[in-house]
Amino acid sequence: MAGDCIFCQIIKGEKPADFVYKDDAVVAFKDINPHAPIHLLVVPRKHIRSINDLEEEDRGLVAEIIYRARQIAQEQGIGKSGYKLVFNVERGGGQYVFHVHLHLLGGWKNGWKKK
Ligand code: AMP
Ligand code: ZN
Repeated sequence: MAGDCIFCQIIKGEKPADFVYKDDAVVAFKDINPHAPIHLLVVPRKHIRSINDLEEEDRGLVAEIIYRARQIAQEQGIGKSGYKLVFNVERGGGQYVFHVHLHLLGGWKNGWKKK
């Protein structure tokens, strides 16, 4: 737990979020600034600063995050049409919230288009 971490505060219920999934290890909620019709964040309850800070013991948790994202995508109705799973790593990789999270993006009407 990190007291000043926004995602830890959301997980503890100290800050609001629009949850779509919760279990003992992982939660998922809607991104406040969506970049896709469906934009969810799949977040471990354990505070891990960044993918770069993963320990050996976290390997199973990473698998769990990806597996839950797949399940949530199916529940959201975008499993078949497809979706993106993205970890931003450190500032150079676009990470602004330093509590590991997986972006789940999808729901584009005609699929995702390369610009
Ligand atoms: P990243 O750039 O990978 O660190 O992504 C952080 C994401 O968290 C961004 O897409 C933000 O829009 C999102 N975000 C920040 N604060 C909140 C919040 N209070 N509730 C939901 N999503 C948030
Ligand atoms: Zn945290």
